[in-house]
Amino acid sequence: MLSYKIVPILGVLVAMPSNTVNPPGTSNSNQNAPLETIIDHQHPTFTDAKRDPSLRSAYLNFILERISLPEYITSVTYKTLEELPPEARADLEKSPEYMYVDAAIVLADVGKKKTRLPIIVTPYTFTRDTIQTDEEFVASLTGHEFAHVAFLYFGCTQFDVSKLRLDENGFFDVNVLKAITEIDACQNQLKSIVVNGALRQGISMRYFDNTKNDLYDSYLKFWTPTQTNPQVMQELQRSYFSADLCTPQTCIIMPSTTASLPGVFLKDMNGKLYRLPESVIKDFFSQKH
Ligand SMILES: [Zn+2]
Repeated sequence: MLSYKIVPILGVLVAMPSNTVNPPGTSNSNQNAPLETIIDHQHPTFTDAKRDPSLRSAYLNFILERISLPEYITSVTYKTLEELPPEARADLEKSPEYMYVDAAIVLADVGKKKTRLPIIVTPYTFTRDTIQTDEEFVASLTGHEFAHVAFLYFGCTQFDVSKLRLDENGFFDVNVLKAITEIDACQNQLKSIVVNGALRQGISMRYFDNTKNDLYDSYLKFWTPTQTNPQVMQELQRSYFSADLCTPQTCIIMPSTTASLPGVFLKDMNGKLYRLPESVIKDFFSQKH
């Protein structure tokens, strides 16, 4: 009996007799062709999925066939705007996000290896300009979103998140934890797109800069007023500081007339200044001046 299955070819879904199509790597007729060539001719690319919404789910599934999901990711699903919960839709509309981890964070569970979570890929992944290539899509998914769940599952090595707890009921300012996980995910994403000091093939300078800017903006959130103890916020400013954050565009050094240390400020997009704590200045600048 001849059955049919849908196979994406050059971005167009066509029905082919199933006995003429072999899964990649098992084809007899294409024995000498490199695997990449076979795949390239049989799957929708990110560009195809960007152009044609009907290919997006198939595109994601194609990518998922080629990456193994870590133990802490339960699923990765494409959802149209109509399929998203109204709150998620509203959040996405007013943020630059395009994929997200579906989670209600319980601080006490961070690092307990019990938070296995799903990731949702939304149409904004394809309609916003952040991602332009297959490689950038994979970096956003596995380098960034997976890292968010890994953070919750394995815990945080850079900072003791239990310090964010505000009362015995486990109440905490979720925005502070979000800033921490965002920095962590961006750091991981940067690691995944840079090899030996150069950008991986398929990753643009624009994507790299966007990732660095996301990290920078998240770091400046440690100055946002919160119920979290100011000393804890200062510890975060210190723990997550890295010399890379200071560039001629972002960093302003004001010589002090009274104290021995200069005032060092980071600047945001609107020109607002954020003063680095003295301990950071001592650690990172004193040796140089
Ligand atoms: Zn994120």
